[in-house]
Amino acid sequence: MPKVYFIDVTNRDGVQTARLGLSKLEKTMINVYLSEMGVFQSEFGFPTTRHESLYLQANLELAKMGVLQPIRLEGWIRATVGDVETAFSLVPDIKHLNLSISTSDQMLSSKLKKGREDITKMMIDAVEAARAHGAESIGVNAEDASRTGLEFLIKFASAAKEHGVQRFRYCDTLGYDNPFTIYETVKSLAENVGIPIEPHCHGDLGMAVANSVAAAKGAIDGGQDAYINTTINGIGERAGNADLVATVLAITKSKGFAEKYELGAPIDLTKAWKISKFASYAFGIPIPINHPGVGANAFAHASGIHADGVLKDPENYELYGFNELGRGEPETVESGREICSGEYSGIAGFRHIMGQMEVSFKDADEAREVLELERYANVEAQKPLVEDELLFIAKYPQIARKLLTLTPLE
Ligand SMILES: [Zn+2]
Repeated sequence: MPKVYFIDVTNRDGVQTARLGLSKLEKTMINVYLSEMGVFQSEFGFPTTRHESLYLQANLELAKMGVLQPIRLEGWIRATVGDVETAFSLVPDIKHLNLSISTSDQMLSSKLKKGREDITKMMIDAVEAARAHGAESIGVNAEDASRTGLEFLIKFASAAKEHGVQRFRYCDTLGYDNPFTIYETVKSLAENVGIPIEPHCHGDLGMAVANSVAAAKGAIDGGQDAYINTTINGIGERAGNADLVATVLAITKSKGFAEKYELGAPIDLTKAWKISKFASYAFGIPIPINHPGVGANAFAHASGIHADGVLKDPENYELYGFNELGRGEPETVESGREICSGEYSGIAGFRHIMGQMEVSFKDADEAREVLELERYANVEAQKPLVEDELLFIAKYPQIARKLLTLTPLE
């Protein structure tokens, strides 16, 4: 029986969102948390973007070191030979790529000014170039697939498969599908092409999670694995993407679904609270109070009948327990004097902060080196670093140095 997997695209779709962004260290922490959670793959960035090069290389090094394991790190580029060449020249060790091209008549005529045969050829040439460079896995993304005729989509995906592509991303780029349409389309693609499908759903009509669940069912009913695309807290273009935690909850806990449609690898939902809180802090976007699982009200009860019911038995008004999402641990909030990290931190304050986390240094030189890296990290973040970031810098100073090196072209 085919299975459900998750590909998180926070570090690509999330960061390309208007008004939002992450530092390279924050992106790295997200990869670490996603890996701890058991997410199959992180779309970790843009290999053709020069300011990403050292970040991408550093994260691939972390993978080699076993820090970013078992997660797979995959880069997103356009499906052109030029992008493939640039990607492998800037990030030679990249092994997994998704190649994206628009497929709808709307985008072909008014944006790309190309025909269906042109883009099919562009995609094939790009795939062949990536294979020639030794790419281990390639996914092809059909942008605006939900506004593309099914017959052409089948032809396009079949051509991708014939040229060695392992997965086909069905992008509901504008959030146009509904659960009924996406189920039928994805099932038909799975049956007719015989390739694992990545449903990539947006929330313009408020259905990103529902559409992802329906698409996963369609892929599996059609005999193929589903690799659902998500982002943390649903952050993504416009109204956002399918939220990671909500989609995992929907797949594993909605009525009868998990009996037939199973995860390919376990997801550790007890990391949900930590990853959502971190992404919220890093993006500077609060988690909505009514957010599934991780919102402040997800387990709050006030009215008489609800409070009475939940006190008698939580299952009266809760589908799942807060502890399943890693909530309920005591958290300390400093209400008095606080020493924060900052870009102008000094050695005394820094030693105090690290000492509170029981980190000590072998000598003054080592402390000064880590302090210097911490100051650079603050230049990028423009807010105090969290404990995990400080610990990461202290543990992997050489990696941090790479992440923090941004050298604009002459
Ligand atoms: Zn998207």
